[in-house]
Amino acid sequence: MTKLFDDPARFADDALDGFVAANRGYVARVDGGVVRSTETPAGQVAVVIGGGSGHYPAFAGLVGAGLAAGSACGNMFASPSAGQVYRVAKASDAGGGVLLSFGNYAGDVLHFGQAQEKLNAEGIQTRTVLVTDDIASAPPGEIGKRRGIAGDLTVFKIAGAAAEAGRNLDEVERLALKANDHTRSLGVAFAGCTLPGAPEPLFTVPAGMMSVGLGIHGEPGISEQPLPTASELAQLLVDGLLKDRPEAAGTRVVPILNGLGTVKYDELFLLYGKIEKLLVGAGLEIVEPECGELVTSLDMSGVSLTLFWLDPELEMFWAAPADTPAFRKGNLAPRRARAVTSTAAAAAQAPAQAATAASISLAATAVEALKVARSVVVEHEDALGKLDAIAGDGDHGIGMRRGVDAAVAAAEKAHAAGAGLEELLAAAGEQWAERAGGTSGALWGAAVAAVGRTLGSKEAYTRADAAAAVDALRDSIITLGKAEAGDKTMVDALLPFAEVFNRSIRDGDGLARSLRSAADAAAKAADATAGLSPKKGRARPLAAKSLGHPDPGAVSFALIANRLADHAASIERI
Ligand code: ADP
Ligand code: MG
Repeated sequence: MTKLFDDPARFADDALDGFVAANRGYVARVDGGVVRSTETPAGQVAVVIGGGSGHYPAFAGLVGAGLAAGSACGNMFASPSAGQVYRVAKASDAGGGVLLSFGNYAGDVLHFGQAQEKLNAEGIQTRTVLVTDDIASAPPGEIGKRRGIAGDLTVFKIAGAAAEAGRNLDEVERLALKANDHTRSLGVAFAGCTLPGAPEPLFTVPAGMMSVGLGIHGEPGISEQPLPTASELAQLLVDGLLKDRPEAAGTRVVPILNGLGTVKYDELFLLYGKIEKLLVGAGLEIVEPECGELVTSLDMSGVSLTLFWLDPELEMFWAAPADTPAFRKGNLAPRRARAVTSTAAAAAQAPAQAATAASISLAATAVEALKVARSVVVEHEDALGKLDAIAGDGDHGIGMRRGVDAAVAAAEKAHAAGAGLEELLAAAGEQWAERAGGTSGALWGAAVAAVGRTLGSKEAYTRADAAAAVDALRDSIITLGKAEAGDKTMVDALLPFAEVFNRSIRDGDGLARSLRSAADAAAKAADATAGLSPKKGRARPLAAKSLGHPDPGAVSFALIANRLADHAASIERI
């Protein structure tokens, strides 16, 4: 249970402020995360890492000489937004380009990907290396689908050391990819973790049992078995990882035993001793191991074992010195402090161009619609979180809430400033993605902005415009998320919604009536996702657990569609 906070909604921000206050010699706060507070030689590649908060020392604790140049810090267990990543990368760039590296989660991939596009467009050469070490999350033939857990450390360390050694961006990228190829992890949990302010854990493990293959966002494991002895657990972890040995593996290996949050160091050391004996017994040579908390999951009780298979070049960079708040190795010359400049999040600007009266009037309707969406999200926040916790990470309620709250606030501000529809929805969409994080935040943010762009600023609006807006909603989500029908995502509710809406409009139905039929179709389709197996997003590794339960993103979409349909009907009656 996380007990200490003033306002649970501000937990991640407040904790980060305190972390920076306690580590000023290493890090400085920027909008979106932290960067080194010390000078970096000009031309050095900036390794920018990041992810959700709640994983300390990942990610902010790994910022410092010889390791990361900056860390984008999202909300609790939610990916940072594209804006956050972009701003942290800008403040980290020393002229040698940027390597973005983070665990393979759909939300992070979307947001970091958008940031990469923006950085490249501005002439800052940017590459991405995903961490995919968790062997429980996909079979050996599908390594690219695996999620990143404690193996983050080896990839970040190798990339950071290569950057420190003056390697160029191509080389840092190559070495980080190789480090990832050589890293495998497997974890277990004995008890779940609780988000600040949440009344109960994201998941529970029955007393006397252990969950094998847990994720670091509280995603439950893939199987449960009776709690083993330390020796039995050592055997299970070592056997699992040796079976999944990478092709290029030699005999020199770095074991990393990671505590997930509430396992005592004494227990970790005890377990490490057993693990090392087994590895030596298997003919392996142990090189500079780590045993402690490296990638945690709030107060989760559990451990993970990572094996990092060395070759001479990886070993050289693993052994290289690093000096960060949470990871120190060898000796580095002291660094001079630097003044950090931070790009602030774009403030809502004054209307750029005069909007038409029709567009301003529609903007008022959009504010109302966003408020209606907010009301239904607030009512279902807990239920959506619980649904997401069945096979995902439990943050869908909280993420939707933060996103829609921010969108309403931005829309109200834009409306008060006299903005037209396009501008208003651009601000609302940007803030939705910015504050929500997560996959759904990126998708909803993009969709809201796309609707605004499509409707633009016209002299008058017709029902054909409504159909075009719904097309834009659908296309933006599909273009960005690349999910297809049947993947068990919000797209499964969105497609029938758009199809029925547009057919109804073509048949000459009014807006309210078309929305009603479309929302009904979305609700039916959302229910039907219970029978599907997830192929995208965080729920995919736990496909079996997800069967029988509808997809959270599809459910929230249908709830919003239905509430908007009710709202439209009530206006029409008036
Ligand atoms: P995260 O998955 O990052 O934790 P949320 O929990 O807020 O984000 O949202 C989860 C929902 O996002 C899923 O239930 C699914 O509907 C939707 N989703 C995930 N990946 C995709 C995708 N590629 N395209 C469309 N929707 C997706
Ligand atoms: Mg989620």
